[in-house]
Amino acid sequence: MHPSLPHLIELQRLDLRILELSAQLAALPNRVAQADEPVTAARAELARAKDAHLGNVKERKKFELDVESWKEKGRKYRDQTGAVKSNEAYKALVHEIALAESETQKAEDQLLEHMVSGEEFDRQMKAGQKAVAAAESLAKEEHARIAAEQQRIEQEKAQFTAERDKAVGEVPEDLLARYHKLARRYHGTAVAQMVGEACTGCRVHLRPHMVQRVRQMGSEEIVECDSCNRILYYVEPPAPGAASGDSSQAARAHSPGGSSAAAQGGGK
Ligand SMILES: [Zn+2]
Repeated sequence: MHPSLPHLIELQRLDLRILELSAQLAALPNRVAQADEPVTAARAELARAKDAHLGNVKERKKFELDVESWKEKGRKYRDQTGAVKSNEAYKALVHEIALAESETQKAEDQLLEHMVSGEEFDRQMKAGQKAVAAAESLAKEEHARIAAEQQRIEQEKAQFTAERDKAVGEVPEDLLARYHKLARRYHGTAVAQMVGEACTGCRVHLRPHMVQRVRQMGSEEIVECDSCNRILYYVEPPAPGAASGDSSQAARAHSPGGSSAAAQGGGK
């Protein structure tokens, strides 16, 4: 394994984590918008109830005026009854009085109807105000949660970025350029582990001499997958009974000559 490969593997781990955190940050504005949706809906519903209420008040005023106006007309016609000379004129007045009374009644009925429906609009408006307050309070809580999450992600990202800046100094420039080119092509995974005899990047089986080259622990060669061109590395499986994690294996694999004998012995 090339001595810079463990650093490159670490660099990729950090870069992938930074990519993931960036994606999480990019998704936050959408969550803010989603949190605001119920508030917008509740406000629209309240506005509708307010409009209905105002319309009702306007109609009520109109019918109040109608009642007054027809009552006034009726009074005027009744006042004239004492002064009429002819039977014909009297009949005409009685007819006008009856009309004024019936129109007064109609306007009063309408007024009453609008007073009753006005109570319903009042109730809807109060319910709408409550719904807006409840939605705003929930949205505020969600905004606070999102802000806290954003802060946590940004902190984590800053930490990983600092680690990344350190790790990048450990990788020679030509290898770094190869890494960046492949990373752009493969959404960040430029380096792939060989597991069994296959590249985990593209899952293609490697030819035996390629497998041997990747497994050469003392080698300073960078081996690319024939199929996807990703830079390959190999981690020795843990010895029976040894409970060691991947990172320590990688470290062991990195020490030149450390376990190459075992690797070659195992490879026939
Ligand atoms: Zn591959």
